[in-house]
Amino acid sequence: ERYCPGLAEEERRQLRAFSARRRQEALGQGLACPVPGPCHGCPCRKCGRRLNKGDPGVSASRLGDQFWHPSCFSCHFCQQQLVDLIYFQQDGRIYCGRHHAELFRPRCASCDQLIFMEECIEAEGRRWHLEHFCCLECDEPLRGQRYVMRSGRPCCRGCFESLFAEPCQACGDPIGADSEQVSHQGLHWHARAACFCCSLCRKPLRGQPLTCRRGRLFCSDTCSRGQDASSTASDSSDSAFASAPSPDS
Ligand SMILES: [Zn+2]
Ligand SMILES: [Zn+2]
Ligand SMILES: [Zn+2]
Ligand SMILES: [Zn+2]
Ligand SMILES: [Zn+2]
Ligand SMILES: [Zn+2]
Repeated sequence: ERYCPGLAEEERRQLRAFSARRRQEALGQGLACPVPGPCHGCPCRKCGRRLNKGDPGVSASRLGDQFWHPSCFSCHFCQQQLVDLIYFQQDGRIYCGRHHAELFRPRCASCDQLIFMEECIEAEGRRWHLEHFCCLECDEPLRGQRYVMRSGRPCCRGCFESLFAEPCQACGDPIGADSEQVSHQGLHWHARAACFCCSLCRKPLRGQPLTCRRGRLFCSDTCSRGQDASSTASDSSDSAFASAPSPDS
């Protein structure tokens, strides 16, 4: 295993001890050789099909007098053939180094190293070293901070709002991670009554019938026609909006 320079000495010490113990207790190298006479007809440890005397086979000293087809000598977890026949055994199964280690310790989704500290951060089924749980954009550590998960990685609230938040059609502000959002025909609004409401009469539209014309919401045909009239009159399609009272501002 590589050492991540960002990790505490204690963590590295545990990694060294863990690696030494695994080498001693589980590491081996398969031996490629023709299947000997006494093993004629024995089943391949992996696929169960029989191996005949003289067939190419692989044996593993840590697993006794058993044979694999060379192509069957693969990691129990990822099914990758083992490079140079180097295996780690556990409970009678063989693994690549990576997946054998993961039987015992979680792996950090950021630095890809094993985690030895008792404490780590878990989100959406993945885990991180405390110091590696950082914003995907600005790299700020997010331990103890609020964050939003984005494609399996954490994002700080500031970056989330500047990168991903949709602007509200009504007030123009980004719809932050805290705010409820309503979407309609690919457009977005704050769910609050001040934003998701009829552009003309300001009636809240959550759960109500509505029509959407040129990105504006209306409660009825009457309001939607009224909008056309007022736009023409003032020569500004935003006039109804700008002058409308907004309880949140
Ligand atoms: Zn086989
Ligand atoms: Zn594997
Ligand atoms: Zn890490
Ligand atoms: Zn950030
Ligand atoms: Zn809004
Ligand atoms: Zn209306």
